[in-house]
Amino acid sequence: MVGNLKAEGAYVVYIGMRSVRVGGPALCRADGNMAEYSAFALLRNALSGNRDWKQAWRKPEPKPSYDVIVIGGGGHGLATAYYLAAEHGISNVAVLERGWLGSGNIGRNTTIVRSNYLLPQSTRFYEFSMKLWENLSHELNYNVMFSQRGILNLAHSPAQADDYIRRGNAMRLSGGDAEWLSAEEIGRKVPGVDVSGSARFPVVGGLLQPRAGTARHDAVAWGYARGADRRGVDIIENCEVTGFLRDGDRIVGVTTTRGEIRAAKTAVAVAGSTGRVMKLAGVDKLPIESHVLQAFVTESLKPFVDMVVTWGAGHLYMSQSDKGGLVFGGNIDGYNSYAQRGNLPIVEEVMSEMVAMFPSVARVRLLRSWGGVMDMSMDGSPIITTGPLPGMYLNCGWCYGGFKATPASGFSFAWTIARDEPHQINAPYTLDRFHRGVIIDEKGQGATPRLH
Ligand SMILES: Cc1cc2nc3c(=O)[nH]c(=O)nc-3n(C[C@H](O)[C@H](O)[C@H](O)COP(=O)(O)OP(=O)(O)OC[C@H]3O[C@@H](n4cnc5c(N)ncnc54)[C@H](O)[C@@H]3O)c2cc1C
Repeated sequence: MVGNLKAEGAYVVYIGMRSVRVGGPALCRADGNMAEYSAFALLRNALSGNRDWKQAWRKPEPKPSYDVIVIGGGGHGLATAYYLAAEHGISNVAVLERGWLGSGNIGRNTTIVRSNYLLPQSTRFYEFSMKLWENLSHELNYNVMFSQRGILNLAHSPAQADDYIRRGNAMRLSGGDAEWLSAEEIGRKVPGVDVSGSARFPVVGGLLQPRAGTARHDAVAWGYARGADRRGVDIIENCEVTGFLRDGDRIVGVTTTRGEIRAAKTAVAVAGSTGRVMKLAGVDKLPIESHVLQAFVTESLKPFVDMVVTWGAGHLYMSQSDKGGLVFGGNIDGYNSYAQRGNLPIVEEVMSEMVAMFPSVARVRLLRSWGGVMDMSMDGSPIITTGPLPGMYLNCGWCYGGFKATPASGFSFAWTIARDEPHQINAPYTLDRFHRGVIIDEKGQGATPRLH
């Protein structure tokens, strides 16, 4: 049986021969810019009518060449640029974004951050990410509103309970936190859940990860963008990559809607657009499919649920936002698409699951829904690697869960680009694992991307 494990306030993670501080009080960097957002600045600007705030990042014209180009100004691209500059001193970097920052999945997700995984490759990576989250607002001097309110996975059968407890034990063995709750404890903690024996899908217990929670998704993009910009990275919005420049086999830059840009290293971090962008480089076979995932938010309610809750009898996850809306989602739409909007059968499925989990919300009005394009990999795990062409680096395959991975993904992708070799946390996430049959199949679903 799993039990409580308290999170420490500060962490030092050993990476190769050096240590990186990923928790505890604010990091003081030598660039002198980190003090810009403070209680004092808030007061000063309030008194001057809020007219003196500086732009969070510049709007530079693209230069003819850079050391590194990162394609995609989502969470992962921006975090990569930030860590390239902050950890490796590589700041002659351009992030090329075809729309505006936050227009992709980073601004569309349901904001759940967790590290409740089973397999050692996954627990290592996502637990590292969790530790970066725990200090991210300090690291960036930007409030990403990381709220460690906990995530509760409801179990509805003894077999599912066994499965969750096994996962909880794996989490604890890898240094994470996990706790098993009985149905009675769940009834007290989350009064909206129907734990009565007469529920259609009776709750037999649940796995709680207390350190999991939510963060403000667009603040994560803005915080990394501001941090990267302050260190000299050019963030170029409205700049779509339309092709790749080659010298023989080697990628030496890109063509864009704002002209040619050359680079020694070109990194691709375009999530749901991976297939399309890689095709421009002549790579037309990847173990990735693009699917739509929808999200929903209700009208604002008084405090109703103070943790993230997932429903094990189907696929549903929900939390309450700071504005009071219930934010929730379920399965992907199940067909291949690049459209950022979904279809009605999934709307109906998700609503019925929501009411099965929380019968009292049946008459609450739905306010908005939207969709994002998911890069679903064959085994449900990501790819963070050098290649597949010389001069190129690839980051994709995030499925439902790339938001929580943003810090670790950016950190390890930056390492891979800077050193031309993976960091130990992303070493398993190769592209050739699919050729070699060394898949990292968390869910045990096999090579069926729509099920991951
Ligand atoms: C509805 C929904 C709910 C989700 N919920 C969660 C959750 O609760 N927890 C979680 O961990 N994850 C969640 N996710 C997944 C998570 O949001 C993604 O895995 C993650 O954001 C993907 O990485 P990204 O932020 O870099 O992607 P994006 O923000 O999509 O960034 C990719 C960028 O590349 C740009 N781009 C594409 N093509 C080009 C081009 N040719 N040239 C230049 N730029 C280009 C796009 O415009 C885009 O801005 C959810 C996703 C969705 C859609």
